[in-house]
Amino acid sequence: MARIVVAGAGAVGASIAYHLALLGARDVVLADRGEIAGRATGKAMGGFRQQFSSEAEVRLARESGKLFRELGPPLFEQIGYMFVATTTAGVERLRDRASTQRELGVPVEDVDPSRVRDLRTDDVLGAVACWEDGVAEPAAVTRELVRRAAARGVTVLEHTDARDVEHDVLVVACGAASPELRADLPIRPLVRQLVDVGPVAGLPADLPMTVEEETGFHFRRRGETLRLAMAEPAPRWSDREEVDEALVEDWRGRLAHRFPPAAGAPVVRAWAGLYDMTPDAHPIIGWIGDGVYAACGFSGHGFMQSPAVGHAVAEELVRGESELDLTPYRLERFGGDDVFPETLVL
Ligand SMILES: Cc1cc2nc3c(=O)[nH]c(=O)nc-3n(C[C@H](O)[C@H](O)[C@H](O)COP(=O)(O)OP(=O)(O)OC[C@H]3O[C@@H](n4cnc5c(N)ncnc54)[C@H](O)[C@@H]3O)c2cc1C
Repeated sequence: MARIVVAGAGAVGASIAYHLALLGARDVVLADRGEIAGRATGKAMGGFRQQFSSEAEVRLARESGKLFRELGPPLFEQIGYMFVATTTAGVERLRDRASTQRELGVPVEDVDPSRVRDLRTDDVLGAVACWEDGVAEPAAVTRELVRRAAARGVTVLEHTDARDVEHDVLVVACGAASPELRADLPIRPLVRQLVDVGPVAGLPADLPMTVEEETGFHFRRRGETLRLAMAEPAPRWSDREEVDEALVEDWRGRLAHRFPPAAGAPVVRAWAGLYDMTPDAHPIIGWIGDGVYAACGFSGHGFMQSPAVGHAVAEELVRGESELDLTPYRLERFGGDDVFPETLVL
């Protein structure tokens, strides 16, 4: 069988290498020019949710959930994702999405958000939650998959440019750096940041990932701290991984409103990383040239989609086809002159 070199040991490349090994591929190399989980994967929030609005995304999430559940705590904690809405239009959107999600088998429930101790709910008109969703540790999960891949014979090389490793097939799983390997990939870097605040005494153990429907502000518990994130008012199309301090202050204010016990909690750490955006915010998966296969452009959802994607890509590489329908993700869907949106709701 041909030698497959997977370029990039982030969540996506690691999952592909692991699933290739599971399917019996013999000559597989996983090469990263830096370190395992050293780029976007190591900077991610770690959220895993099935509550998406498009059918294709819900299917990817349903499939991915199996591996996260198998990994279990402490790598994956099934704390749930709860969306709260403060307007009637927001409640309607939640209900519409929930009915599509339920049709696809996602157990989304209408919930009373006041069940979460200390959460401010007097302005909340409706809430939905899926308790199968949760949070994982992206770098630790990735390292675990690399460990499993190596145990099954995959050669793992760090500090190695994959292009320098002899190959028959090159799998481009380089996140925001993917266009360096293939300039025709329509992928642009978008800066996004996260903030940890704390410690906050007595955080409820059952605090779910809580997402404000109208603003997109969301937060999760991590030990005695809270990790905050939000889509930014003006997208930063850049590869400069810089923290915007004004946003940090804005988010702390939002946290103080939604979760009053955390008011004034100091910043532990703030950092920025890159989303690898495509024009439609869906990934590019499939053959893009002779011996070159792409799995990139995950547009901010790559960690949670990586188990299903890794399995499907490995099937396509080893067996020529995958059970999961990858046709929505082919490069050919773009016309070559696609524009990246000015506003983003992620
Ligand atoms: C702030 C932030 C929060 C996020 N939160 C979430 C979340 O909650 N849930 C979620 O699902 N996703 C989240 N994401 C998105 C998620 O991190 C990414 O979609 C995912 O990690 C992408 O994984 P990847 O393997 O494709 O890319 P990366 O993790 O970027 O890995 C690509 C790897 O390729 C390597 N590389 C580059 N060029 C070469 C080369 N020539 N040869 C060899 N190796 C090369 C790099 O060194 C790097 O290690 C978040 C991202 C950010 C920035």
